Order: sequence, then C-alpha cells, then structure tokens
Amino acid sequence: MISIILLGAPGAGKGTNAKRICAHYNIPHISTGDMFREAIKNKTPLGELASSYISKGLLVPDEVTIGLVKERLSKEDCLKGYLLDGFPRTIPQAEALTEIGKELSREVNYVINIDVPEEILVDRICGRRVCKSCGAPYHVKNMPPKVEGKCDLCGGELVQRKDDNEETLKARLSEYHHNTEPLVNYYKGLNKLYTVNGVKPLDELMSDLNAIIG
Ligand code: AMP
Repeated sequence: MISIILLGAPGAGKGTNAKRICAHYNIPHISTGDMFREAIKNKTPLGELASSYISKGLLVPDEVTIGLVKERLSKEDCLKGYLLDGFPRTIPQAEALTEIGKELSREVNYVINIDVPEEILVDRICGRRVCKSCGAPYHVKNMPPKVEGKCDLCGGELVQRKDDNEETLKARLSEYHHNTEPLVNYYKGLNKLYTVNGVKPLDELMSDLNAIIG
C-alpha cells in the first residue's frame, strides 16, 4: 500500500509534487485545502466556516478537518493507497490520523517533508497562479503557461488564490512554524520521515521521491 503524507511550508510545492506522484502511482490526491476551496465555491455550511479561517491565514479547527479526512479515507478508492496534501497540520490531527489509519487498516507508510528555504517560499506564493477550472498549478516566472492567463491542460482561466498575498502568507507561515513544523519530529519518532530538497528541478525531485517510495 502506497500511503503518503506530504509535509512542507506553504509554497514548498506540495500540490505540484502531489499531482505528479499521484499520477505516477495511480493513487487519489487528498488535499484538505482543495476540499475547503470546493466547499467555499459551492457555498456549503462547511465552506462558510472554512472561509472565515482561510481568509485570515488561520487553520480550520481540528475537529472539522479530522472528520472530513476520516470520511474521505473511508472511501473505496483509498484501499490501495492515497496521498495526503496539507493534512495533518497539527499534532492532534496527526494523532487522530494514526488512530484512523489503524481503524481502517490504511496506515501511513511514507511521510515526505519537502524542504524549501523561507525566502524562496514568499516568491513562490506571490507568483503562484492556479487554473480556475482544473486546479493545475503555475508560477508567473518559474512555471509559466504557454499562453498567458490560460491553463495548458484545459484552457481555463488562471487566477491567484485569495490567500496568496504577502499579508495572509505571514499568518500562514506563523501557523506553519507553530503548529505544523513539530510534525517533523513526531514522524521522525515513528521512523516514517523522509526529507527531500524542494528547491531541485521537478524531474530531479521526482527521481528522489521514486527512490524513497520505490
Ligand atoms: P492549502 O491549500 O493546503 O495551502 O490550505 C489552504 C488553507 O486551508 C490553509 O491555510 C488553512 O486555512 C486551511 N487548511 C488546509 N488544510 C488544513 C488542515 N489540515 N487543518 C486546518 N486547516 C487547513
């Protein structure tokens, strides 16, 4: 079973690498951020609640996020594996995930920490664009689309995430250092942690990831 957590600060490249890994190993990509954004787009009660936190760069409360992930991991398509992108983000979420994994016999095997220096994160986040239709990620300088403003894959409009601005990023980085960075030691203690250099070109990084996952 290929069950993976991608850890890393905002802008480390979790989403971009998640898409490549999931396509390669044919496993579902579970992004809590995407799930919240979908709920916001559909104006559901979950979306309304999540939006009040996300717009401030704060974390959505653990009980809400844990419930959402438990329901998602119970689905049939996670039987042979899955990749979690953006979850867990706190120690209580990680502890809950350990329990959920045992209960469903779908425990996490690889925790991959994508390491990127902080000054690069700011540039990556501020230049990030995403396709409004299919969610494909771009960067105005580092990963531009072939035609400006249009997705290479589906022709959709490229937009900037509302929380991808310098001010919200400050709050997100602070949440990351305070709540999420301690997960590195948590998973080191469980002997599941692998760290990769997220500054490398994507293909080189993918070879490093393949060497870990095998
Ligand atoms: P992301 O797309 O992973 O950068 O997530 C965007 C935003 O969604 C975060 O800044 C949080 O506000 C919220 N979010 C995503 N995943 C989680 C999580 N595991 N726990 C709490 N909040 C989350």
